Amino acid sequence: MAINIINPATKSVYKSIEETDSAGLNAAVENAKSAFEIWRKTSAAERTQAMHRVADEIEACGAELAEIIVSEQGKPMAIAQMEVGGAAGWTRYNAELSLEPVVIEDSAERYVEEQRLPVGVVASITPWNWPLMIAVWHIMPALRAGCSVVIKPASTTPINTIKLAEIINKHTVPNLVQVVIGGGRAVGEPLVKHPDVKKLVFTGSTPVGKHLAQIAVADLKKVTLELGGNDAGIVLENADISKVAEKIYMTSFINMGQTCACLKRLYVHRSKYEALSDALTKIAAAQVVGNGMDEGVTFGPVQNEKQFNSVNAMIEEAKAAGAEVIQPSLPAGLNGYFIAPTLIKDPKHDMSVVCEEQFGPVLPIIPYDNLEEVMSHAIHKEFALGGSVWGEECPERDWVVEQLDSGTVWINNHAEVLPHIPFGGNKDSGMGVEFGQEGLLEYTVRKVVNRAK
Ligand code: NAP
Repeated sequence: MAINIINPATKSVYKSIEETDSAGLNAAVENAKSAFEIWRKTSAAERTQAMHRVADEIEACGAELAEIIVSEQGKPMAIAQMEVGGAAGWTRYNAELSLEPVVIEDSAERYVEEQRLPVGVVASITPWNWPLMIAVWHIMPALRAGCSVVIKPASTTPINTIKLAEIINKHTVPNLVQVVIGGGRAVGEPLVKHPDVKKLVFTGSTPVGKHLAQIAVADLKKVTLELGGNDAGIVLENADISKVAEKIYMTSFINMGQTCACLKRLYVHRSKYEALSDALTKIAAAQVVGNGMDEGVTFGPVQNEKQFNSVNAMIEEAKAAGAEVIQPSLPAGLNGYFIAPTLIKDPKHDMSVVCEEQFGPVLPIIPYDNLEEVMSHAIHKEFALGGSVWGEECPERDWVVEQLDSGTVWINNHAEVLPHIPFGGNKDSGMGVEFGQEGLLEYTVRKVVNRAK
């Protein structure tokens, strides 16, 4: 069966691609298993060199990859180029990581070292928001550890992943990364269940992540989950609005708000509420909304119809319940899934735009008088991916940092992820960690060698 890949800026078919059937899935895992037997025997130096060659070619194909990303994902060209740059950077960072054995004891009685071996064939399932970057986040530590990968990209954004796999297989060993195409239930689940798959790395929604983890853990497969979030940002009484407004806007609306670690709920001390709301309104109004391919466009469409409908429903619910919705009007003639950057003033704590993850271009701004009281709302019952506090140094700022229970807490920033800094969610936002040495270890199994003296 063919799947149509829709350009979200035009709603026209960008490409059609065949879904992988069960024979194709089995062949992909078999190929990855054979490639693993070759790749696992390569030296650290060979892997490092091969991965740098992959990064070189990601850069050389940067224009093509960015164009694919804009066409199937919808983001503006400058952000797609940033995504390609990040993909190359993460590849180089992982290329340089080391997995040398760690000596635990070297005494008169014994010599003990801990070795790290590649886990085997990895199943990777990725979402549609940062499709190339997240594929790289899954694949590169796997390759550095000596694993092979079968990746199932989101059905709406698979083309960039196919190109990435081509590049990797050219510079490593053939078939090291296999791409399978199709829906979650039809292709994703059988992939996770496949007996030759030894680990699942999944980025996506919490319900799907929990479901797949159950399947994987039933066969004692290793699991890394990067799931949903509903990150709060708390703006203190002493925050300098001229310093923080631009960054708050950027970290809330990057990628049209379709970023797991975006700032998604903004709690502002009442003394700064109007000034910050006005500043954000001005920045939102200055965005150029349109097709990401067009020169000067800074704000693209939402990636797909389902997300477009779900974000619009939240905005409508807030409007109907009396919140103030500030939404610049869209330029005439657009025919895609466009929603202008939207601010919701004075929403209630229980509106879905506040208590659920919007994953789109809308930011609820909630005033507060009492910091202790607002923290009871800011700390989400289920999610704990990221959180932030904005303001000058003071005991209140330290207190907020201490209270937030998320995997990352930023001070005067949000959504910043870097290859060397561990990233992962607590509570329902995830399991395990990505990036840095710790992220690499998730693709390994431990072997302790204990020699008596
Ligand atoms: P999703 O529905 O969970 O889909 C993610 C991936 O899982 C897609 O490839 C999807 O395939 C696949 N999938 C869906 N159901 C499946 C099943 N039953 N078995 C196997 N695979 C299945 O999430 P989404 O709507 O694409 O992405 C939005 C969510 O991802 C948000 O909650 C967001 O916070 C989260 N996210 C988290 C991070 C992070 O690092 N924490 C990063 C990005 C996104 P199809 O495309 O074919 O449905």
